[in-house]
Amino acid sequence: MKLPYLGAALLSLAFAGSALAQPYPNRSVTMLVPYAAGGPTDTVARVIAQAMSRPLGQTVVVENRPSAGGILAPESVKNAKPDGYTILIHHIGMATTPALYRKLRFNPLTDFDYIGLINDVPMTLVANEKVPAKDFKEFLAYAKANKDKVAYANAGIGAASHLCGMLFMSAIETQFLTVPYKGTAPAMNDLLGGQVHFMCDQTTNTTSQIKGGKVKAYGVTSKTRVPSLPDLPTLDEQGLKGFEVGIWHALYGPKGMPKPVQDKLVAALQESVKDETVKKRFADLGATTYPPEKATPAALQAHLKAEIDKWGPLIKKAGVYAD
Ligand code: ASP
Repeated sequence: MKLPYLGAALLSLAFAGSALAQPYPNRSVTMLVPYAAGGPTDTVARVIAQAMSRPLGQTVVVENRPSAGGILAPESVKNAKPDGYTILIHHIGMATTPALYRKLRFNPLTDFDYIGLINDVPMTLVANEKVPAKDFKEFLAYAKANKDKVAYANAGIGAASHLCGMLFMSAIETQFLTVPYKGTAPAMNDLLGGQVHFMCDQTTNTTSQIKGGKVKAYGVTSKTRVPSLPDLPTLDEQGLKGFEVGIWHALYGPKGMPKPVQDKLVAALQESVKDETVKKRFADLGATTYPPEKATPAALQAHLKAEIDKWGPLIKKAGVYAD
């Protein structure tokens, strides 16, 4: 090797060494979203990513890795380098997919380091404007009478919209044609366009469409009404006794992140969930932000485990599987 080259090589090694020595994070962090841009999970991701950028001192870039059921993004994060530069946002799907997929290529309980819980979001039953039912009672009668024509949109097996639809169909003992999308943003477009009839989706995606009168809303899936949509009755109070679906979001990293890196991410999440702007933004969209004590690896681990134990048997009983 000629000397100038050796010099250059040594210099670049020195640079690499100093970059390694710099505390985490010294460049942007990528947050993978399992669904399409513009949808409910993406909306939560963008709010929290922006808030976390401040305490981290680096941009948190949201990257959509959409797939039916949201099963590809967790796999990508599982296989990413555990250096804190690739993290995952996901919802209840982390707890339901193990029971829904026979060949899932990640294990939520063993393949990730946990960061913490973000928020809880209720869902709403919405239909396109042309559906001729003015309330839930009429909608039930219409849907049952037209069960061979009515199409239900969701974001694939493992999505929150799939879970809610599955529970709804079982509660009313009627099956509909299901049309899967790579997220409920494209599903909402088709709902607005009249190609599909109804869906169950998070308030983070439906609130503005409901308030703008673009969709018909028949009920909310929480136990009590949502303060941001006070006129919308719960499905429970309209006769679907005990019907309750709450969607929670959380952050994960690949297994094996160095403790100081994980601690930085946890601290940034805790700062963000305390942030009044974040809390207000989520509240306006019907979501409830978790307190900082829940934005921790231990709280997420306990919640995930409890949710797997809750939904696993229910899903197995329903006999729904994807390969
Ligand atoms: N969260 C949605 C669902 O699970 C999908 C999305 O975010 O687009 O149905």
